[in-house]
Amino acid sequence: MLGAIEAGGTKFVCAVGNDTGQIIERIEIPTTIPAETMPQVIEFFKKYPITSIGVGSFGPIDVIKESPTYGFITSTPKPGWNHYPFVQVLKGAFSVPVGFNTDVNAAALGEATFGAAKGLDSCLYITVGTGIGAGAIVQGELLQGLSHPEMGHILVRRHPNDPYKGKCPYHHDCLEGLAAGPAIEARWGVKGDQLVDQVEVWDMEGYYIAQALMQYVLILSPKKIILGGGVIKQKQVFTFVNRYLKEFVNGYVALPELTDYIVSPGLGDNAGITGSLMLAHQALQAENHFV
Ligand code: ADP
Ligand code: ZN
Repeated sequence: MLGAIEAGGTKFVCAVGNDTGQIIERIEIPTTIPAETMPQVIEFFKKYPITSIGVGSFGPIDVIKESPTYGFITSTPKPGWNHYPFVQVLKGAFSVPVGFNTDVNAAALGEATFGAAKGLDSCLYITVGTGIGAGAIVQGELLQGLSHPEMGHILVRRHPNDPYKGKCPYHHDCLEGLAAGPAIEARWGVKGDQLVDQVEVWDMEGYYIAQALMQYVLILSPKKIILGGGVIKQKQVFTFVNRYLKEFVNGYVALPELTDYIVSPGLGDNAGITGSLMLAHQALQAENHFV
């Protein structure tokens, strides 16, 4: 049996399941401080004969195996989680292999294995929620270099009608600073779910997301783009994203029919936890391979 954790800033989803993506049992635990959250996580998994654990975590995290802080959540402002040795704590409690990656990379893996990008060796998963992040499968592997990608913080061209200064504490008006849920709320004065009928809100949102997608398309050339996260619950965003992407790309690269190319998660809200199960599966396989 495989264990999976989708560690988010608001809640942890914990599940046990198998390598067919089947979830057998699942719970949600509020993300408070590690001393409160982690004992509940450990208590849940102690009930099952798990052979490995996969973690898709909020970040930034250290995913470099050779690093002295591999397995840590690194520079988060979230109280208690800064420099937190996540993998080490799990290994201490369970003595099983632990797979560790970003929440969005896990979601990309879940979607590529069982969801909207099933059967493809390339896809991009983007979440537009409290923050913006993306994970990618490139040539069948999760994209990783010096660290994991941080695709939410790219620079975008400002919408001509947008005087809002931006919400990112590091860059102000990067993509996340202009287009994540908190930026929408700060710019328009109310949360996104109260702005359903305001066309200019979703037009502007589409303008920013489409710029990001153009850059991801030009750099990574993904075979499928999956858009998730709370803000994308506003399905009208797709119309504007598609319209602006077509306009910006301007025929330079041939793209598939956009309604088929840019899609919602096939696994719905289970993309991240299903991908975390696959991280557990991969961790177990890697361990067996070296025995
Ligand atoms: P998180 O990013 O914390 O995992 P979500 O993906 O649900 O969680 O993102 C939360 C953000 O999405 C909040 O800023 C919230 O205002 C926004 N949001 C949630 N639901 C909607 C909705 N139906 N319409 C527009 N914005 C939404
Ligand atoms: Zn930023």
